[in-house]
Amino acid sequence: MPDRLNDSYYRATAHGWETQRPLDYALDCDVAVIGGGFTGLSAALACAEKGLKVALLEAQTIGFGASGRNGGQLIPGLRWSMREIDAEFGRERAKAIFDLAWGAGARVHDRIVRHDIPCDLKSGHLEAAYKPGHFDDMQREAAFLAREFGWDSVEVVAPSDINTHINGGAYHGGLYDAKGGHFHPLNYALGLAKAALAVGVLIFENTTAQTPVDRAGYVEIAAGAGSLNARHVIIATDNWTGDIAPELGRYTVPIMNYNIATAPLPNADQLLPSDAAVADSRFVLNYFRLSADKRLIFGGGEKYVRRPPADIAGFVRKHMVEVFPSLAQTKIDYAWGGAVGVTMNRLPHMGRKGNVFYAHGFSGHGALVTTVAGEVMAEAVLGTMSQFDVFASLPHSRFPGGKWLARPLATLGLLYYAMRDRL
Ligand SMILES: Cc1cc2nc3c(=O)[nH]c(=O)nc-3n(C[C@H](O)[C@H](O)[C@H](O)COP(=O)(O)OP(=O)(O)OC[C@H]3O[C@@H](n4cnc5c(N)ncnc54)[C@H](O)[C@@H]3O)c2cc1C
Repeated sequence: MPDRLNDSYYRATAHGWETQRPLDYALDCDVAVIGGGFTGLSAALACAEKGLKVALLEAQTIGFGASGRNGGQLIPGLRWSMREIDAEFGRERAKAIFDLAWGAGARVHDRIVRHDIPCDLKSGHLEAAYKPGHFDDMQREAAFLAREFGWDSVEVVAPSDINTHINGGAYHGGLYDAKGGHFHPLNYALGLAKAALAVGVLIFENTTAQTPVDRAGYVEIAAGAGSLNARHVIIATDNWTGDIAPELGRYTVPIMNYNIATAPLPNADQLLPSDAAVADSRFVLNYFRLSADKRLIFGGGEKYVRRPPADIAGFVRKHMVEVFPSLAQTKIDYAWGGAVGVTMNRLPHMGRKGNVFYAHGFSGHGALVTTVAGEVMAEAVLGTMSQFDVFASLPHSRFPGGKWLARPLATLGLLYYAMRDRL
């Protein structure tokens, strides 16, 4: 059956990948990784590089989840500003969080170069101010980042200069970060998978893992027609985490988000002259960028019910036309969507339970930080906990309401913030 939600530009332009066979036998390994998105692939690759025997289980195909469908926006940091992080956690912890989260771009860049991953990487990210007050806030953040953390790649873009980056949207200035950027996310995921295979990771696609069972000294996982015994397990299943670890599933809710890719645009360079990726500063934001073949890839609007709109392209188009009215009649070649795993406080949820490690809920800021999350889980498996603990010690709450009410209650909260955008 065609998958309406996964009919993406990325799938249509994915680089060649030899499908890996499902697991159908009993296997012993050092580390079992569940989930073949950025988090799981990065963890598996880093574990194998450290000499461990690694098996990765993916229920569908590599990059099937958010990693193969996202906006491709490489946004340094987390959903919180550094001023918020500093105020909440104090300077010492803030510095440790900064080093990992803002340093994630360099690690992703390193992976892309080291493994020669062709994923259309471009530098430059613009956060565009939707309201004048947002621009004031951005200027304070840029000054704080440079003064207190030495992050000086951020440039304040005055309202009068915004058209050096974008012609559309009537934004009130913005922040341009040369260390941000954009890429083709599915090709990055496939590149990581190829690098993982090259260092000996056994990848099994179309293999759904069941709940890991912690036995004395090892963890047992039934998976597809086979099974695994592993010394350590890494759960990297983001929105599906509740299926195999119901308790962890209560820390996130899935928010549906949709993207379109237009036909190649003759005037693409006029719309986005600096070729930066752009995200606006609203709670329910619009985000967009050009693909390598000069399509506009646009994400906008959110849905708090799982069922996709009947016309995904039409649903996103109206947001695109608000920003770029000249594209009202432009052909849309692809429309797709996926779920963003969101935590209560919008910070990633990482931790361990015995020999089972997990990371999920990157809250729309996962394209860069997932690679770091995978790498620090690999270090933790080998007993180096310092970087893992930086993330694992972030405070988290379950969504209230249990299995059935969590989603409607979270929806009410999200609708409130979405409404504030309009005021
Ligand atoms: C539409 C959309 C746009 C986004 N845009 C951006 C953006 O522009 N910038 C940004 O930073 N972030 C963005 N995000 C968020 C980002 O994509 C995610 O944070 C990130 O990809 C999460 O990666 P992951 O590896 O943790 O999870 P996923 O990529 O979702 O991978 C989880 C994998 O686990 C597999 N799985 C699930 N259950 C099992 C099981 N039982 N056994 C085996 N395998 C299983 C799934 O099939 C899936 O492949 C966006 C997300 C969406 C949906």
